[in-house]
Amino acid sequence: DYDTDLGFKELGEKMHEMNQRNAEMDLMKEMEDYRKEYIGNVSHELKTPLFSIQGYIETLRDGGVEDLSIRDKYLQRIDSSVERLLNIVKDLDMINRFEAGQIELKYSTFDINHLIQEVFDLLEMEAERQSMTMQLQTTQSQLFVFADKQRISQVLINLISNAVKYANREEAQIIVSTREGVQNIHISVEDNGMGIKPENLPRIFERFYRVESSRNRKEGGSGLGLAIVKHIMEAHKQTISVESVYLSGTKFKFKLAKSSIEKIRKIKANFIE
Ligand code: ADP
Repeated sequence: DYDTDLGFKELGEKMHEMNQRNAEMDLMKEMEDYRKEYIGNVSHELKTPLFSIQGYIETLRDGGVEDLSIRDKYLQRIDSSVERLLNIVKDLDMINRFEAGQIELKYSTFDINHLIQEVFDLLEMEAERQSMTMQLQTTQSQLFVFADKQRISQVLINLISNAVKYANREEAQIIVSTREGVQNIHISVEDNGMGIKPENLPRIFERFYRVESSRNRKEGGSGLGLAIVKHIMEAHKQTISVESVYLSGTKFKFKLAKSSIEKIRKIKANFIE
């Protein structure tokens, strides 16, 4: 005979300890896998423009290019690869500064609808080239928010240019909508493009993460755009959410604090009525 109580208790403790160790090991392996993947992604994003620069320089140096216009074209391509590298470094620097809490927002009151229209104007050529339409749907002609205008403009540029980039179909449509809530203005950016598979969706805000099919695309992009969007929203003490149906479309949603001007406008409107 043996003391079963004690035996079970010890066994239980041993099992608990082992489970804990396994969980720790799983977590460590997961972190290690993530680190490896991350470094792989970073080097991929850097390698592409670097190889292109190297290739053009070699061709130019070998003297194979007599034609001045071709030489010019190659120099321009070198230039745009350098610009791409610089942009990656600038974006990374911005992310690091956000993570270190070194970025201070410059709050002001502005009309979000007007800002959206400005971003549409900026991206109009690219959208037209792909015969896409961009549309603003709103409940009021003006909606004033209290936020960092330049950073919110960056959020809109990143989201709308992604919608343009990943539309991947004829007659794609991008709808940006704004509406007034009680405390906030609600904003969404929706496209009817290629969508994102559910298994990839939770990762799209990670830096350098790109869905495999995007990685193989020609269009520039480094997988930092959405990481920046998330940081800007967090700095505003807000969140951003995403819904997507694979092969059918994607919708990003966020909100911004309503400016007190909105409240004054409401009182005025009631007074006039
Ligand atoms: P990228 O530079 O690759 O566009 P982002 O951080 O902006 O990087 O986006 C990360 C990934 O999320 C993209 O590579 C793409 O796979 C996916 N993605 C982002 N926006 C959309 C969208 N509107 N439709 C489909 N996929 C998208």
